Amino acid sequence: MMLEDHAGDIIHKARNAAKVPLATAATAAGLSPAELERLEATGACEQKPDWNALASVLGLHGSKLEAVAHGWLPQPPELRRWRELRPITTTQGGNTVNCYLLWDPSTRSAALFDTGWNMAPIQELIEENRLELKYLFLTHSHQDHVAALKILQITWPNVVLFFGPRNQCPALNQLLTGCMTLGSLCISARETPGHSEDGVTYVINNFLGNPSPVAMVGDCLFAGSMGRGFQSAKLLKQKVQKHILSLPSETLLCPGHGPLTTVAQEKAQNPFFP
Ligand SMILES: [Zn+2]
Repeated sequence: MMLEDHAGDIIHKARNAAKVPLATAATAAGLSPAELERLEATGACEQKPDWNALASVLGLHGSKLEAVAHGWLPQPPELRRWRELRPITTTQGGNTVNCYLLWDPSTRSAALFDTGWNMAPIQELIEENRLELKYLFLTHSHQDHVAALKILQITWPNVVLFFGPRNQCPALNQLLTGCMTLGSLCISARETPGHSEDGVTYVINNFLGNPSPVAMVGDCLFAGSMGRGFQSAKLLKQKVQKHILSLPSETLLCPGHGPLTTVAQEKAQNPFFP
């Protein structure tokens, strides 16, 4: 799976967040404004930019940015370590999104994190593994993450729904406090606004004897990048640092877009976090 954001997307996001004009960033990079514009659009550039100077005016890390430009990808995790966890990827109109199903094998009760665009692959997994869908946790209420919510609630009327605070549907608002158990698993919530006001990261501990937690981060963090700061890029960055990158280094991070990653890899390679 390709990264959600190429180097140009990262530069564009960081430049918008820091309100740096195109010409200023181009001068720092040693490029013409047209060359930088092309780099932002495609992630590629015929001329080698001065990565460190460009990164420093944008608040990014130069060599990490350069590594993304040169094709860095996270090591695919050994998903067998988290046996009963399934990423589900759906696409509509060119927008690809991930949601995740996990379950406890002894009780066969399952939790779904976001819905993605359509219910079919979720239903297939549930039927194939003879699961009971008990909980649905939403990382935030952007359309691509909740598109199948209505049909899911009709199909499984007893599923308990958890949203972040300040979401657009207060009637549905149920913020997870403490630890919600799913068999031997413990699911807790951390408020991570910034990409959206209702952003929540869910951390799953005691994953079937695996000492490393799993975190469902929605669009807060992508492998090698982060989500757009629709609410506030600065707030998002703070929340990612405080609530996600502070997790144990082997924590498996499950983003809403792009490949799976880990805390250790993001600390080492994510250009937004010098
Ligand atoms: Zn989003």
